[in-house]
Formats: sequence, C-alpha cells, structure tokens
Amino acid sequence: MVSMLRFEVLNEDGSSRTGILSLARGCIHTPAFMPVGTNATVKAMSPDELKEIGAEIILGNTYHLYLRPGHGIIRAVGGLHRFMNWDLPILTDSGGFQVYSLSALRVIEENGVHFRSHVDGSMHFIGPAEAMEIQRALGSDIAMVFDDCTPYPATYEYALDSLKRTLKWARMCREFRNEGQALFGIVQGSTYRELRTMSIEGLLGIGFDGYAVGGLSVGEPKEVMHEMIRFTGPLLPADKPRYLMGIGDFTDVLVAVESGVDMFDCVMPTRNARNGTLFTSTGRISIKRTEYKADKGPLDPNCKCSTCTHYSRAYLRHLFLTREILSMRLNTMHNLYFYMDFFRKMRDAIASGKFSEFRKRWEAVLASRPETEEEIS
Ligand SMILES: [Zn+2]
Repeated sequence: MVSMLRFEVLNEDGSSRTGILSLARGCIHTPAFMPVGTNATVKAMSPDELKEIGAEIILGNTYHLYLRPGHGIIRAVGGLHRFMNWDLPILTDSGGFQVYSLSALRVIEENGVHFRSHVDGSMHFIGPAEAMEIQRALGSDIAMVFDDCTPYPATYEYALDSLKRTLKWARMCREFRNEGQALFGIVQGSTYRELRTMSIEGLLGIGFDGYAVGGLSVGEPKEVMHEMIRFTGPLLPADKPRYLMGIGDFTDVLVAVESGVDMFDCVMPTRNARNGTLFTSTGRISIKRTEYKADKGPLDPNCKCSTCTHYSRAYLRHLFLTREILSMRLNTMHNLYFYMDFFRKMRDAIASGKFSEFRKRWEAVLASRPETEEEIS
C-alpha cells in the first residue's frame, strides 16, 4: 500500500531537525506541537481560532470518543473532521494510554484489554482490531497502534513481557491498517535501554509511516525520562517522523528536539490555562497572585496574541477569580499561541544553525521560575 504520508527533512543542526510532513489534508512544519482535542474539541477554542494561532494538526483521543459519543455516531455524521468542523490533519491516539491511566480496572488479555469506563463504570474491550476499527470510523489522518503502556516502575521481566505484547499488537494493527490513513508504531520498553532497542528493532521489522516513543512521563524521575529520550530518539529512522507522546514541558521538549524528535502533544498549555497558570517569555506565572490585582500591563509584553494585545493582567486575574468563562478562553488563547510561537522560533533557530543558543536561552528562563505544585495542580 502506498503511504499516505510524506516526510522531508529540511534543515539539520546537530541531531535536531526541521521538516515538512505532508498529508492529504495539509502540511505540518516540524518540530510541531499538536494541541489536544480530547472530546472532539480543543477545550475553549474554536477551529478558526486554532488556525489563527498556527495549529496545523490536532490530536483526538480514541478512548474518549469511543466512550462518548461513540465512534458509530461520529462515523454516521461524516467522521471526526466534519463532526468538529476541523479540515486540517488529525492524529488519533489508539486509546492504549487512556485505558492504562484512566480506567479503574483493566484486565490484559492476549488480544486486548478489558476495562471499566471512567465515565459510567461499564465494561469494555479494546484490542488492536478494535482500536483500528474505531480510528477508521473517526477517519483521522494519522492513527496510532494499540500499545500496552508499561507502568513505572516495572521489573525487567514485566517490561519484556509487556513489550512483546505491544509488538504483537503492532503487527496486528499493521495488518488491519486503514486505507488512506497513516499508521505510527509505538516504542515501549520502560527504562531499559536493551528493551527500548528491542522494541525499535521489532517495529522496524514491521514497518510504519512514523515512530512514536511511548511509556514515558508515567512516574519516572525526569533524569531517567531524559536519558530514555536521548537514547531512543537517535535510534529511530531518520527519514520518518519521530513523535514523543504526551510530553510538552518545555525542558523536556528541548531535550527531545536535541535528540531529533519532530512531533509533540500535551495538555499542558490548555489545562494550565484553565487553572490560571500562564507561560510567558520570562517564565510561568500564576494569574491569581495578588501582585497582579491592579497591574494594567499585558500578560506578556513580548507576546503578540489577542489576549496580550487587548487585555491587562488585572482583568485576566479578575476573570479568573470570578470563574468567568472568558477567563478560560483568553488564557487558553495565550498559552496555545505561546506554544505555537515557541515551536516557530525553535524551527527558525534550527534552520539557522542556532538551536543550542535557543536551548540555552530557554533553559535560563525556565530555571528562573521553576514550576511549583500550586501552579501545575
Ligand atoms: Zn499572549
């Protein structure tokens, strides 16, 4: 079958690279950030607003859409793009991670997982065949294989077993792959280098349109996560897109891009926005703080988003404290714009051979205002 996806590397600076990923519905400049649209909506944003801030692809969650409204309904109304009025590319995850992280009960079997819905307690079964069927109904541009997300910590034996299951399921997903839909494999292997290598070799033997790194940010220390990213990134084929799943903290993104990663998704900008934590060119701030009570300045004087152009910190603080709906909209608009702008500037830096300066400058900013529990809760 002809691949639905073309990937071209444009510039390289060390292991970091810029590229263009071409799909039938549009092109994506990499390194790319994909806003997360869990329930067929990027919370608080309209599709037009997402396009305005430069989003070229968004992520949809198979697990959530399967439970509500159900993939049959989305198929009946013309697929996910039409359902949510988004005509640019969509990547759907396979549900593997949510089955692992959200369901109260999960029983892993040979061909999939029985799990209890976090919504109403009903029992369901998803395996590779079901995950591919759901993603076919959704009609996403890029589908992900159904994987077994290995918990942390895991013994070597457990991680090996889990990895073998993921490889078997990846083979089945490849077999059931949908016409017109690109398919990415997912690297597992916990924190064991040998298992990560084995996972990559197994996936390469099957052959995918792109390769994702999964099973990180599941409770392991940051240093361990970074070591795994640095180890795994360069082992993935250079002529295919590389995707680090679910990780979007700037520090982690910088490590990953330095290791040759091209795609990211994370709820950080949107979830933090709704909690009043905003990213700025001088670090992250909590808008509820008393110091902003009568602050008539913009949230970030260096940001060109519509929130920073039109509203003061005092107003944003007031909206947040009175729990106004507009608070979520304006905060999300800024945080997502800030993310898209960060990635734009990072691509420019790589293209002009200045990624290491970019990284150092940002590491200094990020170190100056480390995240606190209060802000990320
Ligand atoms: Zn802004």
